[in-house]
Amino acid sequence: MKNFNPADNIQDLQYFGEFGGVNPSISDSSTYTFLSAKTMFDTFEGNMEGCYLYSRHSSPSNLYLDKALAAMEGTEAANVSASGMGAITPTLLQLCGAGDHIVSSRTIYGGTYAFLKNFISRFGVQTTFVDITKLDLIEAAITPQTKVLYCETVSNPLLEVADIARLSKIAKKHNLTFVVDNTFSPLSVSPARLGADIVIHSLTKYINGSSDTLGGVTCASRIFIDSLKNVNSGASMLLGPTMDSLRSASVMKNLRTLHIRMKQHSYNAQFLAERFEKDGIKTVYPGLKSHPSHELYAGMINPEYGFGGMMTLDVGTLEKANAVMELMQARNLGYLAVSLGFYKTLFSAPGTSTSSEIPLEEQHEMGLTDGLIRFSIGLDNDIERTYQMMKACLVELTVL
Ligand SMILES: *Cc1c(COP(=O)(O)O)cnc(C)c1O
Repeated sequence: MKNFNPADNIQDLQYFGEFGGVNPSISDSSTYTFLSAKTMFDTFEGNMEGCYLYSRHSSPSNLYLDKALAAMEGTEAANVSASGMGAITPTLLQLCGAGDHIVSSRTIYGGTYAFLKNFISRFGVQTTFVDITKLDLIEAAITPQTKVLYCETVSNPLLEVADIARLSKIAKKHNLTFVVDNTFSPLSVSPARLGADIVIHSLTKYINGSSDTLGGVTCASRIFIDSLKNVNSGASMLLGPTMDSLRSASVMKNLRTLHIRMKQHSYNAQFLAERFEKDGIKTVYPGLKSHPSHELYAGMINPEYGFGGMMTLDVGTLEKANAVMELMQARNLGYLAVSLGFYKTLFSAPGTSTSSEIPLEEQHEMGLTDGLIRFSIGLDNDIERTYQMMKACLVELTVL
């Protein structure tokens, strides 16, 4: 762990464009020519390193981004996709077939929850949802049919932290593939270094960071990535959630500033969380000593990147939450929008938006209260000034 720095691994890659450009050239082609018919056959059979056939399988631009993201997570290989869901769903479909079982954290991204609960179940794959912080319950949920243990490093939106190292031991003991969605904590946490078999990101969030595109990636062993891309049996190849080359080139450029952005997101969120907690608002942020997983998380992170940019405030009721968000948007403190990782702060009420796939009584059971506002704290230059402006909104609406 000591000598592993994900940002240095990205920095150490060197690319030259076709004409010596400092950025690699973009391959703006869906299909590729061959000088000989024999080479085409071999490429189709997967025998030709460095040859391209058709862009749903591979393109030079996508392979550059794959390589950078594999370096970031410390895995052998990676495969980018057109969205985060376009990485999660083929990965799970590749790992599981009829009769198989998944044990998943119950506090996961709403789309993933809906996929496991309502979609993959149609193909005979059942999921048991568990409280990921209770290791004994997880072990009790494992059956002889279980193939996958699934969680998010920091869960959406409750910011529960998964003990990746201990979960990976449970997965190994029962011969499960341990899949971790690390979207909330790129660079901060390196799940593969802590024992995860497969690490997934929605690139849409921090990694691209400019809210201009969707994207996703699966980082894993070379064998698993090859299986996803297999022309006869690979879920990514056959379902076709392929990222476009122009987009992968633009995500790659944004990836280069990720380390600087993560530090600022974390600094700003830590600052605001400390202030609002002191003001007496129910604040959830993993960087606060009051957070139930603070010590665990502190032991897992690459410290220079901090505890991330996600924070929740509970302002009491849904009406208050809505009023606070509307006023903050009117004062240009951010946008009332789902998603995260933008330069501006984004806020939403998870119960009515990103977690609305989760039935109401289940939301309450897991502590998703009506007055909860989820914040993705932006890159604001003067966070003290932002704090004063946010506080003025809360005072005006009698939350404070
Ligand atoms: C947004 C998100 C996803 C889905 O990614 P898309 O790019 O929207 O498909 C998956 N997991 C987490 C944790 C997310 O925040």
